[in-house]
Amino acid sequence: MSALRPRALFPAASRLDARPTIGVLALQGDVREHSLALEAAGARAVAVRSAGDLGARPGDRLDGLILPGGESTTMSTLLTSFGMLEPLRALVAEGLAVYGSCAGMIMLADRVQGAAPGQSFLGGIGMTVRRNAFGREVDSYEEDLIAPGLGAGPGDPLRAVFIRAPWVEEVDEGVEVLATTRSGRAGSDEGSASGGRIVAVRQGPLLATSFHPEVGGDHRVHGVFVDMVAHRS
Ligand code: GLN
Repeated sequence: MSALRPRALFPAASRLDARPTIGVLALQGDVREHSLALEAAGARAVAVRSAGDLGARPGDRLDGLILPGGESTTMSTLLTSFGMLEPLRALVAEGLAVYGSCAGMIMLADRVQGAAPGQSFLGGIGMTVRRNAFGREVDSYEEDLIAPGLGAGPGDPLRAVFIRAPWVEEVDEGVEVLATTRSGRAGSDEGSASGGRIVAVRQGPLLATSFHPEVGGDHRVHGVFVDMVAHRS
C-alpha cells in the first residue's frame, strides 16, 4: 500500500521540520528578541508584517503568533491601517494560539481600562486589563516572580521586567492566573502597595503577560507558549 503512495516516501519539505511555526507581529517592539527566544525554545520564528503573512486559518501559515510589547494605541492604529485587525480577530476566534506581552496583553483583553479614544482591541481573554497600571512615562519595575505555571518555582523564580506595564484587574471564570506580583506595587494613582497583582494569564490557546520575558535571556515563558502550540497541532 505505501509503495503506491510516493508522498509517504518523499514527504513535503515542511513536514521534515517538526518545529511549530510561530509568527512575531513585526510592526513595532522587541521582534528580534522574541524571535531569538522562540528559536531557543524550539520553534521556527517568522516575522509577520501583513495580512498575507497571517494565513487564512490557524495552521495555514502560522501555528501560533506573538504580539510583542510596544504601545497598544500604535499597534491598534497600525493593525487597522494595514488591514490586519479583522483577519487577526478571525484567527483568534478560530483558535489560533496567541501570546501577548505587555501591549500585546492589552490587545488580547476583552475589557480595557484607560484605553485611548477610538482604540481597537482583538479581545479573546475574559479579563479587565488596566493600561499603564504600574506607572506611566519611563517607569519600569522588576520583580522575581514565583509562578509554577510558567516553570518558575521558589528556588528558581522568574525575573520579570515591567515597562509602563498593565496589570489584570479581574478575570472571568475559565481564565487561569499564572503569576501575581508578590508584594504588589503602587500604581500611579494608588496610595500604597496593596497585595499581589495578576500579571500572567492563560485562557485556552491565549497566553498573556504584563512583563517582557524576551528581555534577559530566560526563555521559560516562550517555552510554555511553544509547548501550548506544539500540543495543539
Ligand atoms: N503602556 C503601553 C500600552 O498601553 C504598553 C507598554 C509596553 O508594551 N511596554 O500599550
